[in-house]
Amino acid sequence: MAVDLIKIKHLKTYFFQGRGLLSKWFGEGLKIVHAVDGVSLTVKKGSTFGLVGESGCGKSTLGQTIFRLVEPLEGEVLFKGRDVVKMNQTELRKFRQKAQLIFQDQFGCLNPRMSVGQIIAEPLLMRHGQGKSQQEIAQDVAALLRAVNLDPDAAVKFPNEFSGGQARRIGVARAIALNPEFIMADEPTSGLDISTAATILNLMQDLQEKMDITYLWVSHNLNQVRYMSDDMAVMYLGKVVEMGPTSEVFDQMAHPYTKALISAVPEVSFGKKKQTIFLEGEIPSPINPPTGCRFRTRCPYVLKKCEEEEPALIDLGGGHSCACHLHSN
Ligand code: SF4
Repeated sequence: MAVDLIKIKHLKTYFFQGRGLLSKWFGEGLKIVHAVDGVSLTVKKGSTFGLVGESGCGKSTLGQTIFRLVEPLEGEVLFKGRDVVKMNQTELRKFRQKAQLIFQDQFGCLNPRMSVGQIIAEPLLMRHGQGKSQQEIAQDVAALLRAVNLDPDAAVKFPNEFSGGQARRIGVARAIALNPEFIMADEPTSGLDISTAATILNLMQDLQEKMDITYLWVSHNLNQVRYMSDDMAVMYLGKVVEMGPTSEVFDQMAHPYTKALISAVPEVSFGKKKQTIFLEGEIPSPINPPTGCRFRTRCPYVLKKCEEEEPALIDLGGGHSCACHLHSN
């Protein structure tokens, strides 16, 4: 039976916006951004968990909170049973060796003044310090470059000498340098053409198999999430609205928002007769989310109850759940 690697419980991450001393002391004019608002989910060891939703839904903030790049207001992030939220700096440093991040802006993450060899060697030097000779580190860097299908000669070059796809590979090489157990990939193929993106996906699947890595795959690309992930969650305005095994969510989608998202992706329904569901209006501000169901201002099936009562996630069976009054008794 699959073991839980990450278990998130009732996680809330709010950002407080306000100017001046009145906000600071009396809360006057203080605005609260409900970026992540009570999310619970479980990522099984060796699996890929996809997190989808429109931009601003809180999926990237959720990922950053797992790594304590932003601090949560409340909730737990259990990594192998230990709460990351309560870790001290030493424990957090150790956790961040086992858990790595791959960002969408890979060029922005690669220091342009460092050679590729130096970039990949950095985490190795941090862990091994003086314990390894320069030659051993150079051998490790060459092996990592080969693992991501780059020529070891790339080590002497600088980031600006590489294409977008190669830069992603360098980012992956750095991320796997310390044999991580968990990687969060935040839109890891954004900006790449389809065939380059496909090679990155295949590379990451390959590495997952060889190194038993668990992924949290954050993306707005539903085709990609369907291809990559075992389980998935759909987020809307800081909340999970539907969650379950990926095949179940795609085949038995239950939430009106999930249906609209999936209907807008032509390839997913290829071969089936289907109708695109157009959502009216923009995603509301997370500063002032709607009462009741947060999706009610755009939902084609809105009921009176939806304005007053917030729907809880209801178990639909087989690990599939959905937060919508249409599915409550
Ligand atoms: Fe639509 Fe109501 Fe369901 Fe929300 S709870 S998704 S508004 S039907």
